[in-house]
Amino acid sequence: MSETDDSPASESAPAEGAATGEDTPPSASDASTDLTELVEDDPETRAGDDARYAPLEVEGLRKEFGGITAVDDVSFDVEEGTLTGLIGPNGAGKSTTFNLITGMLDPTEGTVRFNGEDITGFQPHEIANRGLARTFQIARELEEMTVLENMMLAPKGQVGESLWRSIMPVTRRSVQEQETEQLDRVWEVLDFFEIDHLADEYAGNLSGGQRKLLEMARALLTDPDVLLLDEPFAGVNPSLEKRLLEHIHELRERGYTFLIVEHDMDLIMNNCERVIVMHQGRILKDGTPEEIKESEEVIEAYLGGEV
Ligand code: ADP
Ligand code: MG
Repeated sequence: MSETDDSPASESAPAEGAATGEDTPPSASDASTDLTELVEDDPETRAGDDARYAPLEVEGLRKEFGGITAVDDVSFDVEEGTLTGLIGPNGAGKSTTFNLITGMLDPTEGTVRFNGEDITGFQPHEIANRGLARTFQIARELEEMTVLENMMLAPKGQVGESLWRSIMPVTRRSVQEQETEQLDRVWEVLDFFEIDHLADEYAGNLSGGQRKLLEMARALLTDPDVLLLDEPFAGVNPSLEKRLLEHIHELRERGYTFLIVEHDMDLIMNNCERVIVMHQGRILKDGTPEEIKESEEVIEAYLGGEV
């Protein structure tokens, strides 16, 4: 879990002394206790010195469909501000794992925790409201609406400070002007993904890649901390794939966390700092791209012997 020695652990895990030292009179032991409790309640300070905080923790996850065990004792965590790849051949259990995390499926066994809270069995919208977002394919009905209408219909984010707002602050407005604020935000996100010029285009007329950009733009409107993407590059041409990757890297640098499910091993190896390999419902290997490349099991099971 702590292979990332070069990670800026100090940023996500400020020392307790920094939070308790300054304002606490040496004699006031009661106040000191209170502050310690506050520090422990802050998700950002829960991580240890040598590990980044992991907003998403999956433990002992198992899913059976009739006689098939699609996901079998899967445990991993996703650390803050990382691009983590979940790869494996077709049928490995990637999408099922994704659906178990996002509340689309209930696990037979195991738990999913998000920001320390057990969210196992929660409804998808309850999970999204907590800041764990996923992309959705543009539904058929929405193809007959414009890009802008699709964005306005996207689920609204929770009230309060969001990562997006801290990046692109909008002026504070009255409650009555929240719709205007929503519209401003929609334009900011469209602009970020460089699809603002397509605002009046029908979603049904978009190319495969432009759809992916719109799907990610919609997901960002929910103010997520963590984004789960299931095969975000499927059907995307190389130049749009490059742009999509640039956007993902830029968002990661700004503090967003990504779990990307993919079957394209090279793409994940070249873009993720951490790779989890699934095979036949189980985790075969979890490590850096270098560790994955060197793993005999992965070469045998996933690559079928070829490198
Ligand atoms: P991946 O996304 O890695 O290709 P999946 O998670 O889609 O794999 O599938 C894992 C296994 O579970 C496969 O054997 C698949 O046939 C089976 N499976 C997935 N979803 C269902 C379902 N709803 N009902 C029955 N079997 C399923
Ligand atoms: Mg799949």
